[in-house]
Amino acid sequence: MATKLFSQKCCLCLATVKQLRLLRPAVSRCYQTNHGEEQQTADIVISGGGMVGAAMACALGHESLLQNKKIVLLEAAPKKTLILSESYGNRTCTLSPATIQLLEKCDVWSEIEEMRCQKVLRMQVWESCSNSLITFNQEDMADELAYVAENDVIQEALTRNLDTIQDRVEVMYNTRVENIAVPGVTKDMDSNAWVKLFINNGQTLKTKLLIGSDGFNSSVRKAANFHTLSFNYNQKAVVAVLNILGTDNNVAWQRFLPTGPIAMLPLSDTVMSLIWTTSPEDAKHLVSLSDESFIDAVNDAFWHDRDMNQVAQKATNTFQSLLQTVSPGGTSVRQLPPTVTGVQNNSRASFPLGLTHASNYVRHRVALIGDAAHRFHPLAGQGVNLGFGDVSKLAEVIAKASEDGSDLGTLSYLKEYETSRQRKVLPVMSTIDGLQRLYNTDFTPVVLLRSLGLQAVNALTPIKEKIIEQASKK
Ligand SMILES: Cc1cc2nc3c(=O)[nH]c(=O)nc-3n(C[C@H](O)[C@H](O)[C@H](O)COP(=O)(O)OP(=O)(O)OC[C@H]3O[C@@H](n4cnc5c(N)ncnc54)[C@H](O)[C@@H]3O)c2cc1C
Repeated sequence: MATKLFSQKCCLCLATVKQLRLLRPAVSRCYQTNHGEEQQTADIVISGGGMVGAAMACALGHESLLQNKKIVLLEAAPKKTLILSESYGNRTCTLSPATIQLLEKCDVWSEIEEMRCQKVLRMQVWESCSNSLITFNQEDMADELAYVAENDVIQEALTRNLDTIQDRVEVMYNTRVENIAVPGVTKDMDSNAWVKLFINNGQTLKTKLLIGSDGFNSSVRKAANFHTLSFNYNQKAVVAVLNILGTDNNVAWQRFLPTGPIAMLPLSDTVMSLIWTTSPEDAKHLVSLSDESFIDAVNDAFWHDRDMNQVAQKATNTFQSLLQTVSPGGTSVRQLPPTVTGVQNNSRASFPLGLTHASNYVRHRVALIGDAAHRFHPLAGQGVNLGFGDVSKLAEVIAKASEDGSDLGTLSYLKEYETSRQRKVLPVMSTIDGLQRLYNTDFTPVVLLRSLGLQAVNALTPIKEKIIEQASKK
């Protein structure tokens, strides 16, 4: 009985301490060092305010358990304001249901919907060496498959949201982190010291927890000395904004060519976003073509049958008849992609493609998120979605550390984030890399195997449902 009373009392004390801590106002601390140098301190500093870093700042800013914490976001680029016009941005993302959930939680999704985005109700993926294809339809699931939005629209919605929580998150634009001293890495630094950031305006900033969201060339990753796997695919992605004839434009199209995949994602009833992966030489050529020749090249890439492999074609036809007897109704109807009629002025550009993966995402007082931790080939449209998944999990463990009254940079909390995210990211990364290699050849046995495999998956509804379920998770 005595023990029970004692533990109840302790719980009460703990609850009161936690509540009191929450009531403390956020304070910007500033002090003079012995050398007269002005130093700012913050509980959490996020370096890099791209889509992932800005979402991290929003998620932490909206977290009630962090009300008393000083959170700073540093972004090297100036603050941008998007004024929507008839022209669309050439960088776009397919946003998964898990990403939309996070954006809803931070009050960002309604802003994106108000600006513009397009529902995807069907996806068709097929290849040029055989007739095999796979489709995913909205009827197979409760929600839309995904939404497509311009990166500029997502970034603008996040910026507007951060403007509304300025009392919770301080955003410093035009502010580049130039040097970082990390405890346990930087010489002569106490292992429990705070991370020290040297900023381009001459200031230094000390923090208990530094979050690196500064992209695939991350200086946080380098300063924290994380081992990193990194290579280039020797491929480039050509992007452009295309016009099509049509209405009810809600299908995402992707065709695997031996040179790389070409994809068209819906942006409105008549506008599509193109992402065409090919060799660097071909990319240069495609970007330099006249508008008319470029439109012809895109239509040709979606329609031509020059790569058709006769052996694979015969085998897939026979297999198709067999599948129809095993799984009637499982196989789906091929739709024809829309004809491209125009390309938006100055919308063509190309980006090098590579894979980067840090073997650790955390160390004491440091965590990596988004492309700073992992960057993949865009063929499955997963990059930013996995970055947003990092945001959800990291916000959760930081809130837990705060609730427990622990130092926010404590490794045991950060490790929970790392384990959970690597379990999700590593299988996706190896699948995407494997797919890239599997489709990057027209060698007959490989074409045959992948065509039969794709057809079988397409016919077996439970497997397709499992794929969608996995892609929808954070
Ligand atoms: C062609 C193409 C198509 C893609 N399509 C998709 C898709 O459909 N779906 C999808 O999920 N993903 C897609 N991706 C991937 C997606 O674009 C990236 O995963 C995402 O943009 C990464 O965001 P991030 O915020 O982590 O990094 P970044 O966008 O690189 O942002 C990093 C930010 O950090 C800032 N910064 C850098 N250094 C410093 C510093 N020292 N101090 C302060 N600030 C700094 C930069 O200014 C920048 O704003 C695609 C990628 C490509 C190339």
